[in-house]
Amino acid sequence: MTDPSELPAANPPRDDLRFVIIGAGMSGILSAIKLQQAGLDNWIVYEKADRLGGTWRENTYPGIACDVPSHFYSYSFALNPNWSHRFAPGAEIEAYFEDVARRYGVTPRIAFNREVTRCAFEGGRWKLAFSDGTTDEADVVIAATGVLHHPAYPDIEGLDDFEGACFHSARWDHDVSLAGKRVGVVGTGSSAIQITSALVDRVGEFVLFQRTPQWITPVENPAYSEGQKAEFAAHPEVMERIRAEVSRAFTDGFANVLVDAESPVLQAIHATCEANLEQSVRDPVLRERLRPTYRAACKRLIMSEDFYEAIQRPNARLVSEGIERVEKSGVRTRGGRMHELDVLVLATGFRVDSFVRPMQVIGRDGVPLDDLWRDGPFAYLAISVPGLPNFFMLNGPNAPVGNFSLIEVAELQVAYILQLVERLRSRDFREVSASPEAMERFDAERREAARSTIWASGCSSWYLDEAGLPTAWPWTFDRFRVEMSAPRWGDFETR
Ligand code: NAP
Repeated sequence: MTDPSELPAANPPRDDLRFVIIGAGMSGILSAIKLQQAGLDNWIVYEKADRLGGTWRENTYPGIACDVPSHFYSYSFALNPNWSHRFAPGAEIEAYFEDVARRYGVTPRIAFNREVTRCAFEGGRWKLAFSDGTTDEADVVIAATGVLHHPAYPDIEGLDDFEGACFHSARWDHDVSLAGKRVGVVGTGSSAIQITSALVDRVGEFVLFQRTPQWITPVENPAYSEGQKAEFAAHPEVMERIRAEVSRAFTDGFANVLVDAESPVLQAIHATCEANLEQSVRDPVLRERLRPTYRAACKRLIMSEDFYEAIQRPNARLVSEGIERVEKSGVRTRGGRMHELDVLVLATGFRVDSFVRPMQVIGRDGVPLDDLWRDGPFAYLAISVPGLPNFFMLNGPNAPVGNFSLIEVAELQVAYILQLVERLRSRDFREVSASPEAMERFDAERREAARSTIWASGCSSWYLDEAGLPTAWPWTFDRFRVEMSAPRWGDFETR
């Protein structure tokens, strides 16, 4: 008689699944660590640049920092006792990702300078092509390609005529010396506001070209003392408590309320911003020019401890007349006034509907993602697109964005994707993607809910699609957590 333990298992798990992670930023590094921890060792990360770090590698403008507190903008499993400030500067965040990737054994398995240009589902697998002409294959693709990484250049007449240095905030030219120079910055988004505070005292003359004023909520950014850092190192539970408290505060005090434009909490945030403007800006004329005509948090809320002080410095000027054109020596505004400049910074944001593109993605039956997304990007629960089996996006279309830790978002998404992967591994099916019906229902409900969010309350912003409808997750963050806790299997098409 055969010993039953010697019989082959009816359904031995697949150990041959090959994973390709595209992008070595925050969410790509996270995916690699989580696959490894789940015992899935056949993975590689492809990164188009020569270094990891994603947005923190690309954005190096003066003053760059994360406006989400650092103990919250950290992986839950890799808290960092050494954050220098409540809101850490960008270089420190980049160093943190470098350190975590190294410590968790990810860095040696990142293939750098490898840009995926095409990803096609053929014969049950993903066939990848790279800009250098090489190819690879995968059973599962995790697109960790980031959200805001294609700079949007403004369509301003004469921009090429400018004879000084001109660059985008996300492509900062550190070879250009700024000391004593006349520096102009176009834009008043989060990037421009941080640049203003950092630059005004370093340059000769600072000119901020404002098309739309912003509401600014005051924050304090104290440094952590050496004693505090030692305490964090000795008692990680203190960092865990801070992280949990900040996460709860951001959830209840912000993420959960943005989706209800009538929320009293939003009214309180508006009152705080108004009081900040009243108390901080002394000149009543400047104060009115800085006063937005829309509600606070309609655009992404800006947090700054010192922007209003910076823009009131004697060498700073706010220009709110529209830009007519750029000329050889500077910017001419409507009404004819010329603003002579040595350096012009375009803090004009990003093309926000690219997501995995310009990579060409071809789904089942040869259908290009570009065709599916003809009327704008979408993804079921921001992760899966019907017809793209075993292709999962992190921080894809309709994800919760906006003054929240994208690390927490990505951690929830990766845990969800691993549940889908587990059933691929168990041979329950070979292919999984959102069903067209689930996608349609999700999108209809999303569109309906989007109408009552604060983002739809009457302003223009990168949160809106071409039809003016907010694209971000329109429900509470608590609902996102629940949705991410377990897949609703009926919403997936499997083969
Ligand atoms: P943004 O929020 O999209 O702001 C772009 C700015 O450029 C706006 O003020 C816009 O004016 C202006 N602009 C665009 N085209 C223009 C034109 N042709 N003429 C004049 N002005 C023009 O971009 P961002 O500041 O780079 O921020 C993007 C996002 O990155 C943020 O919302 C945030 O999610 C993220 N970010 C985060 C942090 C952080 O601390 N966590 C820091 C920086 C960025 P209008 O308002 O009139 O359109």
